[in-house]
Amino acid sequence: MKQNMPHIAFIGLGNMGAPMAVNLLKQGYRVSVADVNAEAVSALVAQGAYHGGTPHQAAEGADAVITMLPDGRQVKAVYLGTEGGKGILDVLSAGALAVDCSTIAADDARLVAAEAVKRGIAFADAPVSGGTAGAAAATLSFMVGAETADFERVLPLLRAMGRNVFHAGGCGAGQTAKICNNMLLGILMTGTAEAIALGVRSGLDAAVLSDIMAKSSGGNWVLNVYNPYPGAMENVPAANAYRNGFSSRLMLKDLRLAAGLSESAGLETPMGEQARQMYEHFAADPQNGSLDFSAVLGEYLPQVLPRR
Ligand code: NAD
Repeated sequence: MKQNMPHIAFIGLGNMGAPMAVNLLKQGYRVSVADVNAEAVSALVAQGAYHGGTPHQAAEGADAVITMLPDGRQVKAVYLGTEGGKGILDVLSAGALAVDCSTIAADDARLVAAEAVKRGIAFADAPVSGGTAGAAAATLSFMVGAETADFERVLPLLRAMGRNVFHAGGCGAGQTAKICNNMLLGILMTGTAEAIALGVRSGLDAAVLSDIMAKSSGGNWVLNVYNPYPGAMENVPAANAYRNGFSSRLMLKDLRLAAGLSESAGLETPMGEQARQMYEHFAADPQNGSLDFSAVLGEYLPQVLPRR
């Protein structure tokens, strides 16, 4: 670790945050970490990070903070503090950089950004695409909502963890882009699962059918890199009992965010709504909720789900 490298506080060391923080360590950044899960913190400390204690303790003296938390509720609590408790914005110095990579509502991102600006702290919403494999390989895509000058400042940090960095617009615009993308992903996953299930139920082999569709007009990202049928593709959550991917619960959260965005935009999105309803039903069972979102194939073919 180079002593002259910036100090980054990384908060939220789950399926995505842990490999992202490891990539910052690999680039020589000084990284302090915090998570409510002590095991997640220990795993990062074993790889060279500093144990930061609470999020605001980890952020003290940091040049930049990166958050990778489940949803807007945690993001607001961590930045703004809960009743009586300090938030990260209370301890960061003016001129510091705050980058939230979680997927949350654009309005929540703008609310935190406004509080940051009041304290002279630069804020960028920078949600990601690319999944846990992209996080591990540092090939994520970032969709950034920030003022242009702040976007320039976050670029080197994001390039240490990803390949494509897009400037979507001002604060909140990164979240809007991410929500549109994930609404489409929910539609693609449920649609692809439906087509595979229909073929399998009609006597086709899932891998053969997937190969045909991937190279025909039905080809899409799910068929190319994230096949939901166990055994049809290696190194995907479906090949690992649907563990350690993007949970169905988080996909449901994003489809709910899309429903909220549709309402505020005054535009009906019936395809997104159909996908949301399917995940509402699937993730209502808490065991399904923690499985990867490709396990929604189990709505059609329950036999693919892990035995309980
Ligand atoms: P995760 O649930 O695996 O990780 C979240 C981490 O935050 C956990 O380790 C949890 O203990 C920690 N946490 C929760 N509340 C906290 C708090 N108050 N203080 C400190 N730590 C806290 O989630 P994930 O899959 O890593 O996803 C994180 C975000 O990234 C979500 O918004 C998700 O929608 C988005 N995302 C996920 C993927 C994916 O493939 N998993 C892809 C793109 C975007």
